[in-house]
Amino acid sequence: MDYPFFHVSHYINGQFIDRGPRFDIYYPATNYVIGSAPEAGAEEVDAAVQAAVRAFGEWSRRPSAERRVLLKRFAQLIRDHEAELAAIETWDVGRPIAENKAGYIARIAANIEFFADFAVTHGSEAYPMDNGYINYVLRQPVGVAALITPWNIPMLQATWKMGPALAFGNTVVLKPAELTPIGTWRLAQLAHAAGIPPGVINVIHGFGPDSAGALLTKHPDVKLISFTGETTTGTIIMAAAAPTLKRVSFELGGKGANIIFADVDLERAVSISLRSSFFNQGEFCLAGPRILVQRPVYEAFLSHFRQAAAQLKIGNPFDPDVRVGALISREHFTRVSNYIDLAGTDGASVILGGAPPVLPEPFAQGNFLQPTIIIDVKPDDRVCQEEIFGPVVTVAPFDEEEEAVAIANGVSYGLSAVVQTRDVGRAVRLGSALEAGTIWVNDFFVRDLRVPFGGMKQSGIGREGGHYSLEFYTEVKTICLSNQ
Ligand code: ADP
Repeated sequence: MDYPFFHVSHYINGQFIDRGPRFDIYYPATNYVIGSAPEAGAEEVDAAVQAAVRAFGEWSRRPSAERRVLLKRFAQLIRDHEAELAAIETWDVGRPIAENKAGYIARIAANIEFFADFAVTHGSEAYPMDNGYINYVLRQPVGVAALITPWNIPMLQATWKMGPALAFGNTVVLKPAELTPIGTWRLAQLAHAAGIPPGVINVIHGFGPDSAGALLTKHPDVKLISFTGETTTGTIIMAAAAPTLKRVSFELGGKGANIIFADVDLERAVSISLRSSFFNQGEFCLAGPRILVQRPVYEAFLSHFRQAAAQLKIGNPFDPDVRVGALISREHFTRVSNYIDLAGTDGASVILGGAPPVLPEPFAQGNFLQPTIIIDVKPDDRVCQEEIFGPVVTVAPFDEEEEAVAIANGVSYGLSAVVQTRDVGRAVRLGSALEAGTIWVNDFFVRDLRVPFGGMKQSGIGREGGHYSLEFYTEVKTICLSNQ
């Protein structure tokens, strides 16, 4: 097998810089070292933040139409490098190349394009008063935004945060997850080639606690933090942000329900459920790993779903027919496997998977886990309550709509849910009753960039998307204009 080697560097003040101890980057499908990246310490973090502070003045004053030209050039370069970026995301994450090709890179570009356009078209409020005075609302960029991303969909996360932050006139310091630094570094190269001025985008690498992440979140010159990752990390970052009152937006863990009513077309329900269960090997906070099926179709669904899941090809992520790739690391593989063991001790049954597949070398060295289906679970079992973040789902029957809602809402998370029914009234009722930031009815993972995105309960704080991003990434002022 031919491996590339990615010599990843920081991107600070328009320069690619190699400073700090280097750490290895592993290809999840074989655990072979495919690159290395430097760890930023206090000096590099400060250099990146100071570069962003200096760039802010000019970038924030630039007409948004000019920012749009540069951002669109950046997005076009992303589109022009689609095949290369799709491959990089697979080296970084171990996700099947097929999933990266199905519109994934286009969406990464669209994140930039949409907000570049939005920033020139959005309006503002004005309130003429009875006395002839006029109040109007002005939105201005805030300053330096720290953008901290997880390892599961690194480039999508990077542009989802960078797009609005930059379009509305802020400058950024981005820290990708230590396990997947390649794609974000490559995006920085494309932004550089697009002519985005030095200091507007900075990328630093490193770990979370006692490293680049923690240093960035407490830096006094960082004004905003947009973070996606684990709920416990969110609480730590919130505390770090408190002394300097930074504005925060967090998208955290999830444990979505996928509720299937008896009136559905079973084949379609199975196809949607395969995606909501096993997209990105289930390493996806929006996934729907708690499948609840109305009793009349429970057995039929389970048998079809099990059969279809068993046929998903697992292995070499660059094989275009492969649908399930490798988990991100050995450590994460062990964590996910422990949940499967736990299910057994809780009295549940594993009816599919539960173990690594038999694969030829070098993939036998990778972190592969078969799609796993667990039944005979109780809603309070840990496998039904905690985020597993792997290709592991539970399937359980229910009778009444109210019962499904109660089970779906009976977790600490509230990020997303899937509802499958042909009954419009029921879809409307569940849309209202389910405690989740996003609810898909009869599909999964489709979203207009104008809608709010984020989670309820322990799944987050704040919303981004459309004008919600405008609100987060801009400071708002009221100006009262006298007519005298
Ligand atoms: P995951 O399990 O998805 O890696 P984490 O929440 O641990 O979730 O990590 C998400 C991102 O947050 C990564 O970029 C990681 O380096 C960063 N991170 C982790 N801990 C901290 C922290 N204490 N302060 C700032 N960033 C952190």
